[in-house]
Amino acid sequence: MIRLFPERGGWLEVVCGPMFSGKSEELIRRLRRAEIAGQRALVVKPRIDDRYDIGHVVSHAGAKMRAVAVGRPEEIPGLAEQYDVIGIDEVQFFPGAGSAVGQADDARREDRAAYGDPGNIVLVIDVLVERGKRVVASGLDQDFRGLPFGAMPELLCRAELVDKLQAVCHRCGGPATMTQRLVDGYPASADGETIVVGALDSYEARCRACHELAEPSTAAANSRAASSTWMRVPAPVQSGS
Ligand SMILES: [Zn+2]
Repeated sequence: MIRLFPERGGWLEVVCGPMFSGKSEELIRRLRRAEIAGQRALVVKPRIDDRYDIGHVVSHAGAKMRAVAVGRPEEIPGLAEQYDVIGIDEVQFFPGAGSAVGQADDARREDRAAYGDPGNIVLVIDVLVERGKRVVASGLDQDFRGLPFGAMPELLCRAELVDKLQAVCHRCGGPATMTQRLVDGYPASADGETIVVGALDSYEARCRACHELAEPSTAAANSRAASSTWMRVPAPVQSGS
């Protein structure tokens, strides 16, 4: 595959996909290569993610790289100053748009990030790229419901380079693009919490056909009917497995 990077200035690469698709592994690989090329590389991750090891980004396959856990996106530009390449792992957990990012006033963009525009990761990454940094952001593109996760849609749209990795479906062995959430071994319903790090829930990678959502609880379904945010129809129950 031919990959042409911009010759001047910074750029954004996004590595996305479901859980167990090797995103952190790929992030670490790219930053290691940058270091071999004599560049200074920094990995940051949201403090919310305390799986495995607080001081490192660790892939499911066991690769490991030192990482700084940050509480808010606007801490990143200060940390990144002395570095050429900035890796951001689990980027979907950082607060993103929701606000009027798309219409952000260019002239004020840097100020807003520096002065804590409630920590929009999209604006912060913009600042880094404008300062000439290469940014490699990795994370989940979909939540367990199959809906776009956090700022990921905006980042995918703005990125110079995008890679969507596939995992192996836990059910059928096919290419998996979705994350299945299980609670006590059963498919979670769509009205569950999105972010459950280190909880008792378990996750699997699944293909679209094998991905399942339980029926939402009645109360939640009623309130959802009112707000009409119910997006995904639960997949049919798989037989013979
Ligand atoms: Zn499958």
